[in-house]
Amino acid sequence: MTLDRRVSSLQPPASSLQPLPVPQNILDALTRVDMPAVPPAAPGREMIEVAGAQVPVFRHGVLVVGSGAAGLRAAIEAKRAGLDVCVATMSPFGGTSACSGSDKQTLHTAGTSNKGDDFVNLAAAIGAGGAMDLDQAYVEAVGSIGAFSALQYLGLPLPTDRFGAVLRYQTDHDEVGRATSCGPRTSRLMVKVLVEEALRLGVPFRRRCEAVRLIEDGGRCLGVIAIDRELGEVANPQGLCLILAGATVLATGGPGELYRDSVYPRHCYGSLGMAIEAGVQVVNLGESQFGIGTRRQEFPWNLSGTYVQVVPRVFSVDAAGTEREFLNDWFRSVREASSNVFRKGYQWPFHASRMLDYKSSLVDLAIHHESRLGRTVCLDFTRNPTGFSLDDLDDDARSYLVNNEALLATPIERLRRMNPLAIELYRMHGTDIATQPLPFNVNNQHMNGGVAVDTWGRASLPGLYALGEVAGTHGVTRPGGAALNAGQVMGVRVARHLASVVPARPDAGVAQAARAAVGESLAIARGARAGFAVASVRDQIQARMSDHAGFICPVAGIAGAKAAATALRGRVLAEGFQISSPERSAEPFRWRHMALLSEAVLATLDSYVAAGGGSRGARAYCDAAGTRTPAARAVDCTAWRFRDEVSAHRQEKITVRWDGTTQVVGREALRGMEDPGRIFFEKNWAPYLTNAVYDDGFHHG
Ligand SMILES: Cc1cc2nc3c(=O)[nH]c(=O)nc-3n(C[C@H](O)[C@H](O)[C@H](O)COP(=O)(O)OP(=O)(O)OC[C@H]3O[C@@H](n4cnc5c(N)ncnc54)[C@H](O)[C@@H]3O)c2cc1C
Repeated sequence: MTLDRRVSSLQPPASSLQPLPVPQNILDALTRVDMPAVPPAAPGREMIEVAGAQVPVFRHGVLVVGSGAAGLRAAIEAKRAGLDVCVATMSPFGGTSACSGSDKQTLHTAGTSNKGDDFVNLAAAIGAGGAMDLDQAYVEAVGSIGAFSALQYLGLPLPTDRFGAVLRYQTDHDEVGRATSCGPRTSRLMVKVLVEEALRLGVPFRRRCEAVRLIEDGGRCLGVIAIDRELGEVANPQGLCLILAGATVLATGGPGELYRDSVYPRHCYGSLGMAIEAGVQVVNLGESQFGIGTRRQEFPWNLSGTYVQVVPRVFSVDAAGTEREFLNDWFRSVREASSNVFRKGYQWPFHASRMLDYKSSLVDLAIHHESRLGRTVCLDFTRNPTGFSLDDLDDDARSYLVNNEALLATPIERLRRMNPLAIELYRMHGTDIATQPLPFNVNNQHMNGGVAVDTWGRASLPGLYALGEVAGTHGVTRPGGAALNAGQVMGVRVARHLASVVPARPDAGVAQAARAAVGESLAIARGARAGFAVASVRDQIQARMSDHAGFICPVAGIAGAKAAATALRGRVLAEGFQISSPERSAEPFRWRHMALLSEAVLATLDSYVAAGGGSRGARAYCDAAGTRTPAARAVDCTAWRFRDEVSAHRQEKITVRWDGTTQVVGREALRGMEDPGRIFFEKNWAPYLTNAVYDDGFHHG
């Protein structure tokens, strides 16, 4: 008998289908994830003197900047390949991998159960929104199995059924159900197993070391200038040091501080602005993700999956304390409103076309409107929406609750049944959602664009690589979990490429260009007496980005916002920042870079809409001359009339390169992908054995 027939003819024992209560200690282990102690790196002996300051110099074969899931993966794979690698990080357990999550934080890989998966189909799903290189999508698809198997090997507790197949579910932009999760803190658990491996392998860490400038000389990256808070008194008070490396790998995550309305943890600056400053090509900066989450003022966390699939009551409260279940003004019935709140679970990112026809992004628009009226929007898990009935839900919502045996009286009971970790998580951070309302908003969550790289992670500047969120590998949309997958796959690929070239530890001596860069950086770090206050630049940039480049993006305001961003960048670069103490010497770099990045994002959007670009992915481009208008039961939506996407724009990427005075915007066709069915063993064996496989992709002229 074939396995298929046996499977269908055998019934599982009834007991295997019953959900079991999960003991508290198991929940605790998945939410309170303690990290190992990371020892300090050995102090350096080499110093140079620049502008009266003692500046330590460190030398490595490979420098990985950042210790999120992506950077750690690159570091351990490079170390295993025998390379001389060091990790320099602002904070070993900072960034989104260690500090962010959702109800079930998602890893998206090829399916492993039953008949397995088809990588060509998976690549098509990864790049479905357009503006993504086809070879990159295939690389992420085909690399996903190895990347996640190694995480399992390192001890990542991915759940399996009793046959060993990883448990799967459906997530955003995922028609098949390729998602899996360890719970709310998947990426923190990834960081934990990866850092444990890095420590086992003896990878040295510079633990409070923030890269503030890329050093470029003769068209090659020589390493970075960094501010290291653990240098001690032998060095300059600003903590400035020089790290020279045969290859520099940026793994610094996304620019979470770019928007006021943001669900990133605090102090995520990334290094996109630093790369732009060095003239490195960036791409797709107009593509990002927005969705519902709790606010940075409290505890930033995504409200996807079961948080909304249990259909909590959504209400707003004004200054006088009056509560309104405002979704009733937008949807035609409680059933329609409740079913769309449910759908935010797996249609989490905002998408303009889903504002139409009473679909799930109308919920995001309603929340946006309500908060612009000055009201606080909350989820209430203690009560159902007024008029709600479990018998009066659309089929997808009802069958999900039936299948999960969660037809229980209140949202909190349904959540406790389906995902007790989700409750635990907020309790850990001071909110008991079993008794208290949860304020939330629609926030910026992810940068899909970033440093332009080839399929080996090489940037346009030779000697520089980028991976994880700082790399611009995603297109317009991405399936939920594809970010974590891309970081792991590219960690392996960057390390393989590095192993093929074996970057040498730089010889003694410091190039004149590096000395000059140190001198300029010292001047910035010391601050300018008549410069800007950091907070004023931060507030301007964040407000401009949330008000003019958010998910509701009025076309008429983009050119003006870009001009204002250009003016601010000009003044910031010319006038610098005031610094109250040497401990704050990294701040002028951060906000100088954010000023450059904000201008580059707005230049991308400006160029996109000037070419007739329409709504896609993260943004609704609102325009009175648009062709689509959302409809709502009792709200006039003409202000949100929006432009439709021009399908030809899916076939290109928008690039930006800073030439020292201007953000030069360009267009590139997508890289294609050969038919994998034409790749045969004998024909392709020799290119593998001779390392010729590493030559394709980006060409460094
Ligand atoms: C709320 C939320 C939920 C998410 N949920 C999902 C999900 O379910 N699935 C998914 O795939 N993705 C998800 N994402 C996105 C995903 O978490 C990130 O894309 C991913 O973790 C980025 O990993 P990374 O290693 O590139 O960067 P990070 O994890 O952000 O790490 C960056 C590292 O670089 C360091 N660093 C930064 N700048 C510097 C510098 N200048 N010098 C030195 N070090 C520096 C930081 O301290 C940190 O160690 C979510 C994001 C958020 C905000």
